[in-house]
Amino acid sequence: MPTQAQTKKQRRSPTMSAARVARAVELMAQEYGPFPAERRLPPTEEMVFTILSQHTSDVNSGRAFARLMDRFGSLEAVARGDISDIEEAIAPGGLAKVKAPRIREVLDKVLELNGGSLDLSFLREMPLAEAKAWLRQLPGIGPKSAGIVLNFSLGMPAMAIDTHIYRVCQRLRAIDARTNADKAHDVMEAKVPPEEVFNFHVAFINHGRRVCRAQHPLCSECVVGEMCPSRGKLMAKMAKTGKSSRIRTASGPVGAGSGTLPHVPPVLIGTE
Ligand code: SF4
Repeated sequence: MPTQAQTKKQRRSPTMSAARVARAVELMAQEYGPFPAERRLPPTEEMVFTILSQHTSDVNSGRAFARLMDRFGSLEAVARGDISDIEEAIAPGGLAKVKAPRIREVLDKVLELNGGSLDLSFLREMPLAEAKAWLRQLPGIGPKSAGIVLNFSLGMPAMAIDTHIYRVCQRLRAIDARTNADKAHDVMEAKVPPEEVFNFHVAFINHGRRVCRAQHPLCSECVVGEMCPSRGKLMAKMAKTGKSSRIRTASGPVGAGSGTLPHVPPVLIGTE
């Protein structure tokens, strides 16, 4: 006789297989790609940019990052700078009072743990789990920020699950409904082959921003709609509330070549 827990487990619907996730990435890449070849910031700059990106748009965080580097010239100078000067430089990114001390704190800790150097390129030589653990000991660096630094700066196959990717993973049932965002990093890392982690990230984030939005998802024209277990329910809900599921994004129509590359300051895109 199965226990209550076993019965519950059996009732839980299965999550998307690795092969289906790969197919979803392929379809999204066809729809939104090709994604531009990534331009990489050095890892510590990427980490500071990640802090600046929290709770603001790509444009504002890009501006804040450019102003910070213009003002100080290097992160070594930022690490020696007054918090009030950092705050003033990053003001266009919002939450400057919170982010300025956070940036100083994280740079101070890197200097302390890394023999007085801000160069984190040594992480590339570490096994992935060790590199993640090294970054996670820094103040305020969680699995998402660590994943962004390792993947986008150092080209390592670390997963970075932001709010858009998490939502798409849940709606597509790539993860269980009870899997939280932190745990989702491990679940998705196990489902996506290392060489596809970058494509997965860019494809899912574009899909979440442009089509599978938190409010008014465009289910009727979704490229992965056929494989989505949430589609019927969401479309019925939209119909009931009288909201159109065909509202276009402010940034233009969905289609080939419309993908954007996250985690890269706009100042770097299109430069030599
Ligand atoms: S069908 Fe709707 S809920 Fe499902 S992935 Fe597409 S936009 Fe998201």
